Amino acid sequence: MQLYSVLFKTGDTIFAEGDAPSGAFLIESGRIEISTMQFGERRVLAELGPGMLLGEMAVIDDSTRTATACALTHCRLTPIDADQFAERLAAADPVVRALLMSQLTRYRSVLATLAGDHSVQVHPSLAQPGDIGAFNKIRLESELRAALERKELDVRLQPIEEIISGSIAGYEALVRWQHPERGAVSPAEFIRLAEETSLIVPIGDYVFARVCDMLVEFKRRGRKPLPFIAMNLSARQLEDPRLVERILAHLRKRDLPPDRLKLEITESLVFDYAHIGELLVRCHAVGMHVALDDFGTGYSNLGPLLTLKFDQIKLDASFVRALDRPRGVALVGVIVAMARALDCDVIAEGVETREQREILHKLGCRYAQGWLVGKPATFADVLKA
Ligand code: C2E
Ligand code: CA
Ligand code: CA
Repeated sequence: MQLYSVLFKTGDTIFAEGDAPSGAFLIESGRIEISTMQFGERRVLAELGPGMLLGEMAVIDDSTRTATACALTHCRLTPIDADQFAERLAAADPVVRALLMSQLTRYRSVLATLAGDHSVQVHPSLAQPGDIGAFNKIRLESELRAALERKELDVRLQPIEEIISGSIAGYEALVRWQHPERGAVSPAEFIRLAEETSLIVPIGDYVFARVCDMLVEFKRRGRKPLPFIAMNLSARQLEDPRLVERILAHLRKRDLPPDRLKLEITESLVFDYAHIGELLVRCHAVGMHVALDDFGTGYSNLGPLLTLKFDQIKLDASFVRALDRPRGVALVGVIVAMARALDCDVIAEGVETREQREILHKLGCRYAQGWLVGKPATFADVLKA
């Protein structure tokens, strides 16, 4: 540490107003005064001490120094290269970057006004399209929050057919957002956005509440056997240690049998085996099934199947599309055989043609889901069918 730091004596100027941005510093010891000239008079803006950053502003937006840093005591500083910040900024969340840049611009313009300098311009790097993307994201997030509050999210049901009997065994709940200007926004886009914030938690609760309403309605209409509804879980929902208990409490309150709700966990979220294993044990104790979603698309790791007893494997649509080739048929055949040996049912996703369904049937796949069976439909349409 000592090797890399630089020393300044009391009264030394570390950098001066108007200097080019060479780098920033981490203050290890000593005190530093930051000042600026305003209408010909020197004004102290701040006094900095150990553990604080010095000179980072000019490095972030690559502008000249807008203040002078002077050592009030002997100081020891660790220089930070501009690239170290640049790399982290480039890798940062674009919304966080936009917030930082916006604050910096405002701070600089206040400084310039105080100094009577109206020539300060917004640095060109602050107005790049990356920021437009970040602001679009913030806007979309606010709109999504409002849509959720106004209950504008719609939960559609896509039928899942038991191939051998040709009957609809259940449905997968798929959320939809009808944006007033953009039209239907794909859940692939807004679920990802919601997952970046905690917004996914109320969205998940909303979808679950709608799924419960639908099961209650199926029950009220005397649908026998009562179909199951499968619900997708997000990473944030999985982090909740009380998730299963909360789900069960709601089902109990509405007098719904837990075995009519299925949970889908996408393969790429299955890395903490102990945590998922606990969730499976809790679900199985009350007869609730859990499916491994998008099988074969994540890390293509068979490890989870060694220890985790999923009830179903959802074969990703890319494998179903490959059924027009002998290698695809061979691979799906092996996956179905493996699943059966593990006492797991297979649900093939994205089944669009009769040929695909026929091959899947021959290979021993139990369920089919896809446009051939039905597209995701509104609950009203499902009830009419
Ligand atoms: P997923 O769980 O793999 O859902 C299946 C996706 O495949 C759905 O897209 C569905 O509409 C689409 N699909 C179904 N059959 C066919 C077909 O025959 N052909 C083609 N080309 N596509 C078909 P969707 O509805 O756009 O959902 C995308 C993803 O968004 C879902 O993938 C799921 O990961 C996520 N998602 C949807 N709803 C929710 C939700 O309520 N909560 C969470 N956490 N994620 C959700
Ligand atoms: Ca799914
Ligand atoms: Ca899937």
